[in-house]
Amino acid sequence: MSTLQLSVVTPDKTVVSETVEMCICPGVAGEFGVLPNHVSILSALKIGDLRYRVNGKDEHVFISGGFADMNNNVLSVLAESAEKAADIDEARARAAKERAEKRLAEKSDKVDETRANAALQRALVRLQLARS
Ligand code: ATP
Repeated sequence: MSTLQLSVVTPDKTVVSETVEMCICPGVAGEFGVLPNHVSILSALKIGDLRYRVNGKDEHVFISGGFADMNNNVLSVLAESAEKAADIDEARARAAKERAEKRLAEKSDKVDETRANAALQRALVRLQLARS
C-alpha cells in the first residue's frame, strides 16, 4: 500500500511523526484530503481536527491552525499548538471554554472579542475530540 510521511510540529514539540495512508486537514477554506504522492500544496489551516489513517485506523489530532505543506510525499503541519486526541485534558478544555464564554458575555471594551472567540473555538474542538 502506498503511504506518505506526516509530521505535526509545534514550537515546543513534535506531536506526530508517522508513515500514514492518508490525512484530512482542516483548511481555512474547508477540509481537504492528502493522499500518497499528492501534488505539492501549501495551505493555511484553521482550528480543527486533523485526521490521519494508519493500518486502516483513524487517529485524531487537535490543531490550533497553522500551515500544511506537502512536498515529495512529506506532509509537514506547523501549528501553534497541537495534541493527539488521547492527550487532551478535558477538564482544562472545559475551564477554558467557561473562561472564554464569561469574557464574551461581559461585552466590555476591555475584552478582545476576536481572541476570546478563538479561545472558545479551541476549547470546543478540544472537548469534541476528547469525547470522541
Ligand atoms: P488554556 O487557556 O487552557 O491554556 P489555550 O487554548 O489558550 O488553553 P493553547 O495556547 O492552545 O491553550 O496551548 C498552550 C499549550 O497547552 C500547548 O502546548 C497545548 O498543547 C496545551 N494545551 C492547551 N489546552 C490543552 C488541553 N485541554 N489538553 C492538553 N493540552 C492542552
